[in-house]
Parts: sequence; structure tokens; C-alpha cells
Amino acid sequence: MPETTHPPQDSDSAPRVIGWCAWHKDAAEDVRIIQVDEQGSGSGGVRRACPPCIDTHNLVPFADRPL
Ligand SMILES: [Zn+2]
Repeated sequence: MPETTHPPQDSDSAPRVIGWCAWHKDAAEDVRIIQVDEQGSGSGGVRRACPPCIDTHNLVPFADRPL
């Protein structure tokens, strides 16, 4: 009998996002934008963090923040 059990993940349609975590300073999966430093010119600053760092540092993702 083949194993047909799947892990309970609801991310079938959501591609994994690999990005740079500015907190532990390495690439990580599912990074979220935490801070957007608005600057008139230049590259500006967008800082992303991975879920473990969000948890550790009690960060609030930019998109989840009340205006
Ligand atoms: Zn991290």
C-alpha cells in the first residue's frame, strides 16, 4: 500500500520565497518584509526576516502592520 499521507501544509499554491534575512544575515525561506526605510534616492532599505527571526525578535511584518 503506497503512503498517501501528506503533511498538513496549505502552501501548495504559494511558491517559496528565498530572500535575505537581515537579522541572522543569511538567505532563508519565506522571508517577510519587516522594515521599509523610505529614502528619497538610492536603493533605499528593505529589510526582510525569516519566520524564526520574526518569532525570536517579536517582529511585525510590514504587511501585517496597522496603518
Ligand atoms: Zn533570520
